[in-house]
Amino acid sequence: MAGERDPTMPDRVIEPGCLFCRIVAGEIPATVVHDEADVLAFRDISPQSPTHVLIIPKAHIASVATLEDGSEALAGRLMVVAARIAEAEGIAERGYRVATNVGTWGGQSVDHLHLHLMGGRSFSWPPG
Ligand code: 5GP
Ligand code: ZN
Repeated sequence: MAGERDPTMPDRVIEPGCLFCRIVAGEIPATVVHDEADVLAFRDISPQSPTHVLIIPKAHIASVATLEDGSEALAGRLMVVAARIAEAEGIAERGYRVATNVGTWGGQSVDHLHLHLMGGRSFSWPPG
């Protein structure tokens, strides 16, 4: 689907009706733990571990599958932000999981790219 331009952020693509675009726009409240130019991180509304933070690009990108050539810096920044938040949350030493779900079989329920940063307990592998 074609996105729209946010009039307050001319270079940013938003998707009308997208839950996470609405969080970026401040239309839906979230517990934000990190906010910078192109990346936002907030606590998952239904945490599956003591720390469960979602890290998203502010621009609407549906998933890893729709990342375009040229978005390496943004994609990499999501990972670096995950690492910094893990340190701030005190989960870095024991370890944690960073995961992103893609599409139906990947278990994706919100079609706006997000990394799950999960920690504070141990995780098994492979996931279910
Ligand atoms: P997915 O299933 O797409 O990988 O992950 C979507 C995540 O978004 C889920 O873990 C879900 O709990 C979380 N989520 C869904 N709606 C909201 C919301 O309104 N606010 C926040 N903070 N998280 C949400
Ligand atoms: Zn979106």
